[in-house]
Amino acid sequence: MKPKVIAIDGHSSTGKSSLAKMVASAMGFIHIDTGAMYRAVAYYALEHNLISEEALIDQKELIAALPFIKLDFKINPVTQKNQIRLNDQDIESEIRSMEVSNVVSQVAKLPEIRNHLVKFQREMANEVGIVMDGRDIGTVVFSDAPVKIFLTASAEVRAKRRFDELRLKGVEISMEEVENNINKRDLLDTQRSNSPLLKAEDAVEINNDFLNQKETFDAVMKVVAEKGL
Ligand code: C5P
Repeated sequence: MKPKVIAIDGHSSTGKSSLAKMVASAMGFIHIDTGAMYRAVAYYALEHNLISEEALIDQKELIAALPFIKLDFKINPVTQKNQIRLNDQDIESEIRSMEVSNVVSQVAKLPEIRNHLVKFQREMANEVGIVMDGRDIGTVVFSDAPVKIFLTASAEVRAKRRFDELRLKGVEISMEEVENNINKRDLLDTQRSNSPLLKAEDAVEINNDFLNQKETFDAVMKVVAEKGL
């Protein structure tokens, strides 16, 4: 039987993860945030001094360390978010730091890291159903997913949303820094040779420049209903 997968891909800061969480909850599916996996590996690399100040990655050491990077997800009883753990430690807030955001796309470019994580992501398909969000879910990880969404919005709107989110968390950051990070990640993610960010041919594109969270959710649920999932 084909796995019940709703693939949500798209640009940085389009609200993919919050949307995927809402869709999973409405469908009774499990939500998997694959960006959190790449962030966790980047965080591990930073913690183990495998990334220099000039953002150069010690690729050999990082790849050799993969068997020691145990990732899993656990529901946070307060937020109901399916949060990532690294070697049994909750690292949800650590992986959202700018330090991690600034190096994650370099880490995600490495084919060995991608192969390792994609294998793990495929193993997560279950009988209940999953909503997986990322950059290559509909194109590579589950190219036969029955529902594929490609979420996008203008760079200005995304930067403004991310900026507001970070400021709300008390992070001291300038709009310029947020914009630079988003633009840099978009560029690296779309131009890498291995599994670049790209809309799958059969994905439904949703631009949420003028849609709020609920309206974006409704648009996705309409697609889900049409596909008969
Ligand atoms: O989704 P999020 O913005 O947290 O992802 C962080 C980074 O991880 C992305 O900018 C991208 O470089 C990488 N990523 C990826 N493939 C995925 C998910 C995330 O390359 N499926």
